[in-house]
Amino acid sequence: MRITKNSVVSFHYTLNDGEGRLLDTSAGRDAFAYLHGSGQIVAGLESELEGKAKGDSMLVQVEPAKGYGEMDPSLMQKVPVEKFGDQQVEEGMQFQTPDHKVWSVVEVKDGQVFLNGNHPLAGVTLHFSVEVTDVREATADEIAHGHVHGPGGHHH
Ligand code: ZN
Repeated sequence: MRITKNSVVSFHYTLNDGEGRLLDTSAGRDAFAYLHGSGQIVAGLESELEGKAKGDSMLVQVEPAKGYGEMDPSLMQKVPVEKFGDQQVEEGMQFQTPDHKVWSVVEVKDGQVFLNGNHPLAGVTLHFSVEVTDVREATADEIAHGHVHGPGGHHH
């Protein structure tokens, strides 16, 4: 069968940034499984998988707008170190604010903490190498839950 809305798709992938830097890969793990049409994977990759079948391989280039978004300058912020109270703040640290946004500490300098709240892959053009390993119809439960059950998926 071909991939369409509510297909459960399993695929292996390698992701790099176009300059040869490996960002992520499913090699050595189970194939990644997702419910097609549910927005679980980046939009630019999901649209390219539409109509593909088991055994298909492809290279997909995804621009930031259809990947993890453009860099948002308003998410580059500077906060006085006192705001962190007793907490030790160091470059490379990550923490979550109550709105579930993840911030990375870029630098601590002159009593200021420089923070980046962008996704680590914001502004990056994504280069995927993908091999579709399985396509099946989703069960009614999977469609109701909006995610895949079983190997490569979630369990609830
Ligand atoms: Zn579930």
